[in-house]
This record gives sequence, C-alpha cells and structure tokens, in this order.
Amino acid sequence: MDSVMATPKDDQVPNDKPAVEKTDAEWQAQLTSEQYHVMRKHGTEPPFSHPHNKEKAAGTYNCAGCGAPLFSSEAKFDSGTGWPSYFQPVDPDAVSEHVDRGLFMKRTEIRCARCEAHLGHVFPDGPQPTGLRYCMNGVALDLEKDED
Ligand SMILES: [Zn+2]
Repeated sequence: MDSVMATPKDDQVPNDKPAVEKTDAEWQAQLTSEQYHVMRKHGTEPPFSHPHNKEKAAGTYNCAGCGAPLFSSEAKFDSGTGWPSYFQPVDPDAVSEHVDRGLFMKRTEIRCARCEAHLGHVFPDGPQPTGLRYCMNGVALDLEKDED
C-alpha cells in the first residue's frame, strides 16, 4: 500500500526543546576531545589553560557547538580565576540555568540555550551592573572578533 498519511508537523515539538539536537556520536565527531569532555560531559578545563582567559579583543563569544552568540567582550572582565568570565550573556535567553548539585555545594550550571552544551557556572560574586560572574570554559566559546 502506498497511501502515506501526511504527518502533522505542528504542535508536536514542545517549545522548550533545544533547537540543535545531535547524538552523542555526532557531537563527538564535531568537537575536539577537550570540547566534548567539557560541553557534553560537564567537564572543566584546567584554569589558565585557555587563551580566552586573557583575551582582550572586542567581539562576540559564540557557542563552539552551535555558533549561537553567547557573550560580548564588553561584558568580559578579569576575575582572576583562570577562566574567561562575564557579568552577563548577550541575551538572557541565550543561556539556560540548571541547578547542579555537586558533592559539596549547590551551583548554577550555565548551558547554551540552543544546543544545551555545558558552558560553565554562574556565581553571585561578579562586578556591577549585574553582580554576577559567568565563569565559562574557554573551549566552549569561539571568539568572533569585531572588524575594525
Ligand atoms: Zn550551542
């Protein structure tokens, strides 16, 4: 029989689904092993290991997984922690927050809202105007420098 029913496309996908979904194997093929470890396995790069930590160039830090713009160089500050730090994302909806219950403390994990890549954590000890410190892994971010 070749009577194929049309599949309804609307109302099938909940709004909170990530816009970019890939299998574990697809991510593993796309990302470097260090990126995969951090972004898909919630790892943490060693402090002071990534050049983004000291980067001062103007531009936008995009998700290394899906290219979504996440942080502006204008919100970047030197936190002294060894990880690139920002006081706010480019848009509140660019990232999503998840409670991360570790062994010793409760932290708020930050993920890319589009592909759910683990980026780092947010802490309430940042500078004004937000008082927040988005402590990110450099490997999870691609810097797109502004043209001058
Ligand atoms: Zn992403």
